[in-house]
Amino acid sequence: METNHNPVLENLRYKSASGALDFSGIRYLLIRPETLVEIQKVIEEKFGSEAAHEIFYQSGFRGTSLTAGKLLDSGLTPRECLEAMFRMGAHLGWGKFELPNMETVGKENIEVTIHGSPFARAYGAAEQPVCAILSGALAGIFSSLLGAVYICNEVGCAVSGDASCTFRLVKRPSND
Ligand SMILES: [Zn+2]
Repeated sequence: METNHNPVLENLRYKSASGALDFSGIRYLLIRPETLVEIQKVIEEKFGSEAAHEIFYQSGFRGTSLTAGKLLDSGLTPRECLEAMFRMGAHLGWGKFELPNMETVGKENIEVTIHGSPFARAYGAAEQPVCAILSGALAGIFSSLLGAVYICNEVGCAVSGDASCTFRLVKRPSND
């Protein structure tokens, strides 16, 4: 059901003494998408787009892995964690996360769409997908919750005129 209820905003606590924002005991930071996109563009310019992709991918992965681990420790099932994290993505302003086919979760290939990526919007025009931080965030979510390494590629991006960003996650075969 679609509502405007946003538990993150409702439970965000401001600590005036330290200038900190806290949600569920975790510090958060409000930042304009343009700031992150500028970091990405400078890295692209100085070190190449592959380096920028890797840095943003790993950063996204790190953030969601931490949250997924905390949710699993709280006793939620992987499925409940997944739903909570998809909702939280929107609550944090990262776009609207959707699984077009829930049945694919846990299989070799999973497709995710994100509507309204703030990164695609802030980037401007580009030929290639630019939401590497979202790719990494999704890889972190699925790898942490499903206990296997998932590699995520953005196969369609709103930056190049698509209606939304489309991500394909592929399970990496385990070596043992
Ligand atoms: Zn995108």
